Formats: sequence, C-alpha cells, structure tokens
Amino acid sequence: MQQPFLPFALPDIGEDEIAEVVDTLRSGWVTTGPKAKRFEGDFSAFLGDPSLHSLAVNSATAGLHLTLEALGIGPGDEVITTTHTFTATAEVVRYLGADVVLVDIDPHTLCIDIDAVEAAISPRTRAVIPVHFGGLAADMTRLLALAQRHGLKVVEDAAHALPTTCGGELIGTLGSDAAVFSFYANKTITTGEGGMVVTRSEALAQRMKTMRLHGMSRDAFDRFTSKVPSWYYEIVAPGFKYNLTDIAAAIGIHQLKRAHAFQQRRAAVAAWYGQALAGLPLLLPPQPPWGEVHSWHLYVVRLGDAAPIARDAFIEKLFAAGIGCSVHYIPLHLQPYWRERYALSAAQFPHSQRAFERCVSLPIYPRMTQQDVQRVAAAARAALPL
Ligand SMILES: *Cc1c(COP(=O)(O)O)cnc(C)c1O
Repeated sequence: MQQPFLPFALPDIGEDEIAEVVDTLRSGWVTTGPKAKRFEGDFSAFLGDPSLHSLAVNSATAGLHLTLEALGIGPGDEVITTTHTFTATAEVVRYLGADVVLVDIDPHTLCIDIDAVEAAISPRTRAVIPVHFGGLAADMTRLLALAQRHGLKVVEDAAHALPTTCGGELIGTLGSDAAVFSFYANKTITTGEGGMVVTRSEALAQRMKTMRLHGMSRDAFDRFTSKVPSWYYEIVAPGFKYNLTDIAAAIGIHQLKRAHAFQQRRAAVAAWYGQALAGLPLLLPPQPPWGEVHSWHLYVVRLGDAAPIARDAFIEKLFAAGIGCSVHYIPLHLQPYWRERYALSAAQFPHSQRAFERCVSLPIYPRMTQQDVQRVAAAARAALPL
C-alpha cells in the first residue's frame, strides 16, 4: 500500500500558537500592536542581547529592502551577493535602483566565496549581502574584516539562520549592519509570512521604524497608546507598508520559544540522514565546524560522479515514492531577468552551476521521525542502483 505523501516541508504549529492567535482575535487588536512589540522584545532576548533593535516586518524581503533603504543604497551603487540564493536577496537592490554584482560560492559550504567578493569590489561597491546557506554560517569573520577594510556595509540574509552560530555567537549578534530573518511557511520558525530585522544601530532602527509604516514619524502602537492626541502623525518620507500583524506575531512568540527544540530535532534528522545515506554516491551536506550551531533549515545532498542517474530523474523517483524534494537554488545567473540584465553566463559561476546541476534538498523538519528518514533513504537507495 502506498504510504502517505511525505512533504518537503511542514510547519510545526502547536496549541500555544493557536491559543495565542485566538486570544489576539478576541482582543479586538489584530494588526501591529502589543504582540508585535512583545515578539520584538522576545527576539532580542532570544539573541541574548536586549540592547539589540529587533523590528518585526511582514517578510524578510521587506526587511532586506528596509535595511538597504536605511543604509542609503541607491542608483550608481553596487551591492555584491551570491548567485546561489533566492531572488529576494538580490531583487531588493534593484528596488532601490542600485546594481547587483553576483559572485560564486564556496563549493564546500555553498555559501558566498569571500575571495570572489574581494575580487568583485569596485569603486561603486557599497554593501555585501551574504546568505547563511541552508543554515550554515557564511565565513563572517573574513567577510566582516574585508568589509571593514573597504568601508562596505554588511547586511546578512539570515532567512535560514535561526538559530545559527558563527564563532560561537548567534547570527544577528555578529556586528554586521543588520541581519534579516524570515518566518515564511517553510523556514525554521514561521508566522505564515513575516520577518525580523536585527541591528545595533539606533539610527538605522529609527529610519526603518519610520519607513516600515508609510514614513509616519510614530508607529501605530505608539499612536494609539501614548498621551499625544491619537489622531496626530507626521509623514516624513514616502514609506512602505511592511509592518507585521499581531495575528502573525502571536504565532511567532510561541514559535520562537520552540526554536532551540526545533533546531535540536532538525540536527537529529540530519544525523539520521548521515547514517542512512552512508555509502550512496551522494555528497552529504557539510557539518558545522566544531562547537557551532547549524540551523539545518535545508538538507542538501549532491549526486556524486558515480551516481547512475541525473538529478531530475532522482527527484522524479523520490516523488513517485511519495516524497517531496526541492532544489536550492536555481542560481540567479540562470534566471532570465538576472541573466539578461547583467549578461551572465554559467561559466562565470562554476561552483554554483555544478552544485545546481547535482543538488537535491531532502525533507527536513521537526515533525519528521527516524522512520521517515529511513523511508527517504530507502527511496534514494532504490533510485541509485549500483
Ligand atoms: C525565504 C528567503 C527569503 C525571503 O523571505 P520572505 O520572508 O519570504 O520574504 C530571502 N532569502 C532567502 C535566502 C530565503 O530563503
């Protein structure tokens, strides 16, 4: 008998999240308000530094856009990022009329190659956006030093990196200009849609708070609770509509409490995969350096040279066995918009290109059991007859 479909990703929403949403709905305050504020405070506390500014936004894409806007990125500027990412990382640069300079990845970690970043720096370069691919930290020690030498801003696309460490410190606390987390449905914690920008800069935080809500000089919560007349506000810029609702924040408050437990479960799934897939012609994902936390947002295997079938056929076979897989990523240099805008070719990004042609993301999430992992491994084994 066919087993039920094992999805590629599945959120783990508990009764506490549901009760908090119901409480929000009954409270009469459904948009940005006390729960969004609480979620922000909890987030800074989670990162272990209540002096950090955490700003809840309605997506990581919005958060990346807000950050670059607050940094003053605009026409004539260049921002360097990795080709091996989701388009959101790069599109925000184009929102502001600046140019994207894509670079290749480290073939081991699939994170941005710091040497390639260095080689891509021009007099127009203003910022670098590293991605902590799959939840393994990019080489932030080298990148931050390089950025400092060249006077560049660093904005971390931390969509995969909750919780992830680099040098024993949680991503979000490393001293970049900002780190931006995603709470999209398939991320390590979810609010359905949502994100969080974290920065140490008071000035950046102030600008982002204003731009997050229409360029109003005070946000809706202050507007309706402070002593100043509730109807009064000032528009100081043509801002955006990027605030997170209290309904979403209600989910996030409880997801965040479970983030460490989720990570432990994901790490267990990764360890089970490591055992179950041993001996197959697959390159397994790199382990984090000793003592570091990998969020294990993704579990990306690469078909080895000895694999008897191609990547697409492998995914088809797993799908036929009732298992969902994905590909991270179709690199930006292969996407029509980016390829044509910057006249890119695969030869410029050999490591990303090779990884793309061979990579498969296997299901990984807290609700997976060891039996689920064994089922995936058995299907992989059957797809790879030696
Ligand atoms: C999911 C994701 C984003 C976008 O996050 P949203 O919250 O959906 O806007 C950006 N970058 C990377 C690497 C992602 O995986």
